[in-house]
Amino acid sequence: MTYVIVEPCIKVKDTGCIDVCPMDCIHGSVSDQMFYIDPEECIDCGGCVPACPAEAIFPEAEVPEKWKHFTKVNADNFKDKRN
Ligand code: SF4
Repeated sequence: MTYVIVEPCIKVKDTGCIDVCPMDCIHGSVSDQMFYIDPEECIDCGGCVPACPAEAIFPEAEVPEKWKHFTKVNADNFKDKRN
């Protein structure tokens, strides 16, 4: 499983999650609208959830229905960079 960052992160990009992630697997460039979690690196520790003031991070299985597509959005961000 992985954790997923969803819509409330957009234009907020609080870096609290990045500061606490033990895997350094949360990324986003200056030009990105939000941050993304690398699903192949995330170890499901959950540490980033309370660090997010926007409540934008969920375990993959608990992502609210309206934001389900963000699971792919997060993963695709890294697929493009790995290819
Ligand atoms: Fe990083 Fe843990 Fe959050 Fe995964 S669940 S992104 S490893 S802090």
